[in-house]
Amino acid sequence: MEFRYLGNSGLKISEITYGNWLTHGSQVENDAAIACVRAALDAGITTFDTADVYANTAAESVLGEALKGQRRESLEIFTKVYFPTGPKGHNDTGLSRKHIHESINGSLQRLGTDHVDLYQAHRYDYETPLEETMQAFADLVRQGKVLYVGVSEWTADQLRAGHALAKDLGFQLISNQPQYSMLWRVIEEKVVPTSRELGISQIVWSPVAQGILTGKYQPGQQPPAGSRATDEKGGADMIADFMTDETLTAVQGLAPIAADLGLTMAQLAVAWVLQNDNVASALIGASRPEQVSENVKASGVKLDAEVLARIDDALGAV
Ligand code: NDP
Repeated sequence: MEFRYLGNSGLKISEITYGNWLTHGSQVENDAAIACVRAALDAGITTFDTADVYANTAAESVLGEALKGQRRESLEIFTKVYFPTGPKGHNDTGLSRKHIHESINGSLQRLGTDHVDLYQAHRYDYETPLEETMQAFADLVRQGKVLYVGVSEWTADQLRAGHALAKDLGFQLISNQPQYSMLWRVIEEKVVPTSRELGISQIVWSPVAQGILTGKYQPGQQPPAGSRATDEKGGADMIADFMTDETLTAVQGLAPIAADLGLTMAQLAVAWVLQNDNVASALIGASRPEQVSENVKASGVKLDAEVLARIDDALGAV
């Protein structure tokens, strides 16, 4: 496993992070969830990502259980705040000082730790003054509950504003967590150039487009049993936008490229996001330990310009 610095900070994270959205506390039984975390640790992953909203807090609890007994100093544990996690009261959402302070305490308890390495604003809050949000994060940093602060799916302008306020308050905004894969490249236009300028890294989610880029979904055929596309607890809805014949057909064109490199399609997809030097880590999910063991082999793989061009040709306009 290779490690990269997260933004302009001294924190090194594994270039592949394990995340538990839609799996822990939901699609996947706890034994399988724990087996996935063990596979991640065995493969050298040290960075783990979750959120209080995943499975209405259950995902944090499962991850906390799975990491019990591990040396805390050897792990980077990331979580997020913004969305409501239960019955929605009027202050149970967003990035107000109240919601942030109350949410971190629940997350720390469920994760079984007295601090998280990265606390992320899961979305931008258009209702709360940004000054209030950043002051609340600054206070958590001073209290030692949070070591570093990041955000998720913020625009270039939002990153710039948050970064400036953090600097005034004596801490740094070091990361953004956006969707990024061969099939979803939106951040390349504005978010990545602005982040490079500010010293912010991307931790990118869904690098295999939720399973689509593994090639296991064939156009015109039923999805394999047990896959996310058959998960009625939420996964099927989340992956639906990618499940078009046009996309699935184009993705099959990546198979010979992966084969020529001696990689699986999943490894090619994870390696692809890691070619972007503004990406600190590819944030993978898994429903089985074998998927983790397979996908981590993308760490350290270099793709040359010819391979990148072949990928673009295969995917065409999708
Ligand atoms: P991926 O693109 O890595 O998709 C993971 C899923 O793809 C697995 O659960 C599995 O689903 C399938 N898969 C993965 N590898 C293989 C393989 N080798 N062979 C066959 N199938 C495979 O990422 P996710 O969409 O799971 O997201 C990863 C993480 O990103 C989340 O856990 C979360 O931490 C973060 N995230 C953040 C968001 C944000 O707003 N900040 C939003 C979404 C995710 P199956 O076996 O069920 O088909």
